[in-house]
Amino acid sequence: MRLAAGLLASCAATWAAIAALNACAPAPHVQRPPARYQGDRTVVAVLTHDPAGACKRLGATAPEGRTIVACQHAGTLVLLNPCLLPPGEGDWSDDGCHELAHANAWPADHPAQ
Ligand SMILES: [Zn+2]
Repeated sequence: MRLAAGLLASCAATWAAIAALNACAPAPHVQRPPARYQGDRTVVAVLTHDPAGACKRLGATAPEGRTIVACQHAGTLVLLNPCLLPPGEGDWSDDGCHELAHANAWPADHPAQ
C-alpha cells in the first residue's frame, strides 16, 4: 500500500495494522521494487477518484493523519483514476509498479527508503 507523501509511517507498522493487505511504500518517493518482482502479471485494476475509500473497503487502514493513495489486495490493484491527473503531468507509474510487485509476491515488510 502506498500512503500519501509526507504522511507515511513505517511499512512495518502499517503492515501490522493491515495484515490482510500487501504492504506500504515509503514516500515522498515511491519505492521501486526489486527487478525480480516487476514481471508481467494479469491483475484487476480499480482506477478510482477515491483510492483511499476503495482500499479501506478492502480492509486497509492508515495511521492517524495519513492517507492511503494506492494498495494491492489479492491481485486487485487500487490506483487513482489517471484521468484526474493534469494532462502531461503526474502519473502513477511508480504506484502501479509498486503495487504490481506486491501482486508478484514482493513481501509486505519491505524496508522503507
Ligand atoms: Zn509496499
